[in-house]
Amino acid sequence: MYVKCWGTRGSLPVPTSHERFLTILEDAVVQGSKIGVTSAYELLTALKDGRLNHPIVFGGNTSCTEIHHAGQSVYIDMGSGFREAGTAAMQQGVKEFHVFMTHMHWDHIMGMPYFIPIHIPGYKVNIYHVHRNAPEFIRINFNGVNFPLAWGQLGSSVEFHQLKLYETTSIGPLTVRPFVLDHPGGSFGFRIEGGGRSFAIGVDGEFKRLTPSELGKDLEFYQNLDGLLFDAQYEMSELASRFDWGHCSPNIGIDLALREGIKTVLFTHHDPWSTEEKLRRMYANAMKYLHSQLDSYRAVWEKVQPEGPRLRLAYDGLKVEL
Ligand SMILES: [Zn+2]
Ligand SMILES: [Zn+2]
Repeated sequence: MYVKCWGTRGSLPVPTSHERFLTILEDAVVQGSKIGVTSAYELLTALKDGRLNHPIVFGGNTSCTEIHHAGQSVYIDMGSGFREAGTAAMQQGVKEFHVFMTHMHWDHIMGMPYFIPIHIPGYKVNIYHVHRNAPEFIRINFNGVNFPLAWGQLGSSVEFHQLKLYETTSIGPLTVRPFVLDHPGGSFGFRIEGGGRSFAIGVDGEFKRLTPSELGKDLEFYQNLDGLLFDAQYEMSELASRFDWGHCSPNIGIDLALREGIKTVLFTHHDPWSTEEKLRRMYANAMKYLHSQLDSYRAVWEKVQPEGPRLRLAYDGLKVEL
């Protein structure tokens, strides 16, 4: 099983302006000179092989994640990253798509009009949702005003599938089960399993419920995961002033991962105001926090993965084998 992140920004896409890119490049040049880089080519190599900041930019697009196993993909959400996901899948000859919706906030649906397969006869897009009114809130964008085409003018077949909370849907070799996340208006995570591997979507979520008793029926969805995509929009110091905004912070994901044996945590839904420097600082602080807590969870991790949960900052294009 692999996971590919097509969109990792929260709330709004963040393009990298010319000035911003120059600032990032200048920083790379300064860092490169400290490790003995003397030419542009060496700088490029050092950026590619991870000796310097990698990735150089986080971008980019809003939420869209692909989970793939044995020739079958499912997609979670249709943020602006969905556009590139569609183009890549078409190049591989995919004709039918399966998309699971966490919720209908615009950063999770804005890519749909630009997902090329919906405009071509012969393609089929299946949209799975827990929210009862999801079809209405997706169709409303194709009213001929917000986007030039009306729903009836789409070329492909689009079929909605109402999901029942906690119940399993099978898509080829993958199973998908929805659970509850804490988010204004309601958001649903998904636990996806296939080929003996498991991955869960924890975005968008504030994780106000964290103890086993608070999580109740949702607890099992986090247990012994190979990977978790976690909403880490804010630093811990920012969380209090953003109570009820529906997003979380890396340390809370680490607490959950340490306790429940989650092997890899991908932090995502980066705040549109977060620069690359801030994201890297958040990651460094997260690693410090992990190391300060790991000893208390030795019994959980000793035999599984002695270094504890692996932490990654998700970026557009990141592909992780589980
Ligand atoms: Zn969002
Ligand atoms: Zn949201």
